[in-house]
Amino acid sequence: MGAPGAGRPAGDSLLASPPEPEARPHTFAMPRYSVVTFGCQMNVHDSQRMEQVLLGAGYDRADELGTSDVIVLNTCSIREKAEQKLRSEVGRLRQLKAERPGMVIAVAGCVAQQEGERLRQAMPEVDVVLGPDNIAELPELLAEVELGGGPRVRTVFDLDRPAFLPFRPGAETLVSAFVTVMKGCNERCSYCIVPHTRGAERYRPSAEIIDECQRLVQSGVVEITLLGQTVNSYLDPSGSLAGPATSLPNPWARSRGSLAHADETEFPALLHAISERVPGLERLRYTSPHPRHLTPSLIQAHRDLPLLARHVHMPVQSGSDAVLRRMLRRYSSAEYVERTDALRAALPGLTLSTDIIVGFPGETEADFAATLALTERVGFVAAFGFKYSVRPFTPAERLPDDISEDEKSARLARLFAVVDAAKERHLASLVGATATVLIEGLDKRGGLFGRTERNEIVHLASAADAAPLALEAGALVRVRIDRAYKNSLLGLPTEVQKPAPPRAPGVSPTDAGALPGAEKRLLPVVGAQPLGL
Ligand code: SAM
Ligand code: SF4
Repeated sequence: MGAPGAGRPAGDSLLASPPEPEARPHTFAMPRYSVVTFGCQMNVHDSQRMEQVLLGAGYDRADELGTSDVIVLNTCSIREKAEQKLRSEVGRLRQLKAERPGMVIAVAGCVAQQEGERLRQAMPEVDVVLGPDNIAELPELLAEVELGGGPRVRTVFDLDRPAFLPFRPGAETLVSAFVTVMKGCNERCSYCIVPHTRGAERYRPSAEIIDECQRLVQSGVVEITLLGQTVNSYLDPSGSLAGPATSLPNPWARSRGSLAHADETEFPALLHAISERVPGLERLRYTSPHPRHLTPSLIQAHRDLPLLARHVHMPVQSGSDAVLRRMLRRYSSAEYVERTDALRAALPGLTLSTDIIVGFPGETEADFAATLALTERVGFVAAFGFKYSVRPFTPAERLPDDISEDEKSARLARLFAVVDAAKERHLASLVGATATVLIEGLDKRGGLFGRTERNEIVHLASAADAAPLALEAGALVRVRIDRAYKNSLLGLPTEVQKPAPPRAPGVSPTDAGALPGAEKRLLPVVGAQPLGL
């Protein structure tokens, strides 16, 4: 292709020359993409990596769907509603595609993995179907489609040689970032499609994880969340983490439903290693842990490592032992309470949030009352509540979905009422206290907001007589909590504890909160549902 506006050399014969590319109207803008994300943190993180590979392959981010040459829908199949969302989204894009011939639609994520070729047949406007383990191949598949090769379906698990796409500086600059430590899931919770769509557990070598954390911090990241479906089942495939210092006797290893040998993991050792080898990192979180792997060594890590946030999201799913057994969760409600009590005793002030499914097959009023009782007892300050949804390829598919939709909705509302009350009591108890807030960016009012190490959202007030402080995203500030709202706090900054690290050129502090992924962070907010579910 010639340069834009290049003319024909004087004296050139029209007849002798092949038609020049310049004869076709075109611009030299890079092809533009949009990535639309549904689902959990794992999908948010996958979307960030997709953006990274597309930017690396010469694509630009589109300002809106209507100007995109490529639209990637990163899907979730955890509940049926999430799948329906894909169908309506593709329906909406059909019209756009008719108006923009050449536009490519790619479907990625769990629905892509689950449906593969069937998805293409059901939705012929889809050009690329891409599994979660095939993200790196996205540009190649798009090129094949664009060159007229026809639709492409790529949904192959990398079981033999698991690959974890590394972070590349420049593609994203965030205050807070995710780092995948494992993929897949070896649990077989009877309701859950994840083992089918994400495959068996594969762990990332610890050196790679630490290297990624170091590079993120060098790029300006202050807080890292380690990601995995059962993140605390982590084992280092390179074997370089093993160390007796972080493996304590586990009194719960023999308890009912636990697998003694599987209960102890190298996750606490990984936390220690990150804490020691990633200078500049201010906060470390992880999600989602499985209660079965909340071991004395992990509790000890919380006691020993100031870097670890004082909040843990620990899915319980139900408070009824009968339901937990049918869910194949492999712990009892008493065991959950005992372990989380031990965690809180080790770290007073630590808060817990959770995931709960209501209306699992056969859940009686007494079962649900046990869930409410456990919720009260633990005092969760946030919860993601889900109405049970039958999923293909799951053991519970064979159980009758016998709780009506209305009853599921009513139970969900009752659950949220209990969690909301606990959260409001908790937030009110903080008024008058001081907290350290990591500034994330601008809130909807245009003021700065951030989070405490316990994950409470704090909007920053300004007082006329307060000393002017250099506040920007990425800075840690001491804040006096002046007011509690329903879901957040209002606080007055009193001093900058640590200024923001230098940001990548062109990224202003206020931009930082609105960078890709930042606004999509999935953090527990009572009553909220994970993205798009
Ligand atoms: N691996 C994490 C764990 O075990 O907690 C989370 C997996 S899943 C992406 C997030 C949540 O979706 C689960 O904790 C569960 O509460 C909910 N979920 C999974 N399958 C479901 C189903 N069939 N119906 C309703 N909710 C479901
Ligand atoms: Fe699903 Fe259970 Fe694995 Fe979580 S632990 S991903 S709920 S099978």
